[in-house]
Amino acid sequence: MPAQDAALDTLTIWSYHAHVYFRDAVERGRAELLRERIGARFSVQLGRWHDREVGPHTQSMYQVAFAPELFASFVPWLMQNRLGLTILLHPNTGQPRADHMTHAFWFGAVLAIKEDSLPETMRFEDEDPVVVNTTPTLAVAFSHHP
Ligand code: ZN
Repeated sequence: MPAQDAALDTLTIWSYHAHVYFRDAVERGRAELLRERIGARFSVQLGRWHDREVGPHTQSMYQVAFAPELFASFVPWLMQNRLGLTILLHPNTGQPRADHMTHAFWFGAVLAIKEDSLPETMRFEDEDPVVVNTTPTLAVAFSHHP
């Protein structure tokens, strides 16, 4: 095994975003249901609705911002509860372009991203901190099979 390779082992992940996309009234309805279900279960920041393209995104969506500590419970739940919606999950590491284009993964379809609108780097001070605006009342009984 080489002593040093090119892996980003020391990369710091500040937070994650899950962008929930919708195309029409039917999908918007499902996005609404998913939003309610997320808010009832997880301490996250539910972003406002964007009923049009905004920033690098090429479809209507809302954003769910969450702390890295939530990844292991929230992401598996999202995998199994996305109601057929397309979701972009990306980390925030101070490299917006790479975070969306290279470090991201998609649930469902892979949509176009306006790469040119994303700066290559940004400072931690300029990143919006996650401000939790949900008050979960339901427990998630998620477990990995032994
Ligand atoms: Zn984002």
